[in-house]
Amino acid sequence: MTRRIAELLRAGQPDETVTIQGWVRTKREQKGFSFIEVNDGSSMAGLQVVINPDVPDYEASLKRISTGASVEVSGVLVPSPGKGQRIELKAESVKVYGEADPETYPLQKKRHSFEFLRDIGHLRSRTNTLGAVFRVRNACATAIHQFFQERGFLWVHTPVITASDCEGAGEMFAVTSLNLKQPPLTEQKEIDYTQDFFGKPAYLTVSGQLEAEIMAMAFSNVYTFGPTFRAENSNTSRHLAEFWMVEPEMAFCDLDGDMDLAEAFLKYIFSYVMEHCSEDMEFFNKLIDQSVLETAENIINNQFERITYTKAIELLEKADQKFEYPVEWGLDLQSEHERYLAEDLFKKPTIVTDYPTQIKAFYMRLSDDEKTVRAMDILAPKIGEIIGGSQREERLDVLERRIIEQGLDPKTYWWYLDLRRYGTVPHAGFGLGFERLVQFMTGMANIRDVIPFPRTPQNVEF
Ligand code: ATP
Ligand code: MG
Repeated sequence: MTRRIAELLRAGQPDETVTIQGWVRTKREQKGFSFIEVNDGSSMAGLQVVINPDVPDYEASLKRISTGASVEVSGVLVPSPGKGQRIELKAESVKVYGEADPETYPLQKKRHSFEFLRDIGHLRSRTNTLGAVFRVRNACATAIHQFFQERGFLWVHTPVITASDCEGAGEMFAVTSLNLKQPPLTEQKEIDYTQDFFGKPAYLTVSGQLEAEIMAMAFSNVYTFGPTFRAENSNTSRHLAEFWMVEPEMAFCDLDGDMDLAEAFLKYIFSYVMEHCSEDMEFFNKLIDQSVLETAENIINNQFERITYTKAIELLEKADQKFEYPVEWGLDLQSEHERYLAEDLFKKPTIVTDYPTQIKAFYMRLSDDEKTVRAMDILAPKIGEIIGGSQREERLDVLERRIIEQGLDPKTYWWYLDLRRYGTVPHAGFGLGFERLVQFMTGMANIRDVIPFPRTPQNVEF
């Protein structure tokens, strides 16, 4: 049976006969024998293989092997005399599946820029850095499911296609099967969506929250984990057009419970990744961002800072730093403000609560003074907002009023209002941008390098 290299490096014993499969990272030919390092993606480190001339077809096989070639090697594990590895594989047979012409294969030994690697998105996962990123990404996803499953949350699958354009239709991608060259028109010469696939305009979802609320009203505690889409034309290092979101929703829960869960959640994920991906995390700390391990320890061991928006504005006004955007009660916090709070002032994740009503969504619970809503954002050093959440408005009359105040039509939210009509309860939830989390965890500067196939303006090749 073929063995995974990570497992052999950890637990393989001298004299064991094993078979491995993978891609050649390096080849060194010496007088009388050759070394190759084989990587199968299971770990950062590859397995060193020694090939002696007594291996069948030695010359012919060696000619076909170069960086990037795919191979299967069978042999015996032996203690390694070389530095850096405990064991190595003494080959008894080598099979080359596919060659990788060194003249054209773009991934040679040297380090490539992330920009260059984005242009070869079909090959970049074979590099050390992207390999580490996607292993950590996998560990984060596992930790997320484990965290919620241990606490009895139901994973619910909310739709990708939706008719509700709750959070700003301008940022949504339309979904249509109409012929765009000749769409059917109404008498007023507008597009006649009654003839479209769903009989009305449809979009790719920007969030599964409203549907998650439906499910929370039946299962108490639920979470979604799936792709979301935003047609925002912002070319930043923190925005994607397609990104994954995690959205827990809890019935019988207020904003304090929401914050407690969010904090425990982040601590859990960091602990899990530190335990399961220590080699990759060391790598990030060494080569990408020297504060990665310290940040992880900081998250795991310290209580997050919790301040109100009003207090945050006071602190920003007092800051001995010039900001590009104005600081004023009633204006939204910009990324520079968020980073000042979390990175410079508190030096740890900071939860800002109770934002002005007019800058937040209609579904957030109105406080008694009506000036603020029970919202909370978690700001992370270097990243800014990583989680956005709130206690939801559970009072039918207040919710109806807020919908109208924001210029929305209560009729389109009939089912959302029904949840307040029948068995309403206080409830709360939050949304975590999954790629922002992976960025935060790994120290990767650009969000395009923490998702295998980034979707951004003008970019949909791979
Ligand atoms: P931002 O101000 O950074 O654009 P937002 O206020 O639009 O964020 P929310 O609508 O609260 O974000 O979305 C919930 C979470 O999803 C955010 O906290 C963030 O982690 C993540 N997120 C939002 N937009 C994007 C995006 N375009 N790409 C990746 N992650 C995103
Ligand atoms: Mg946004």
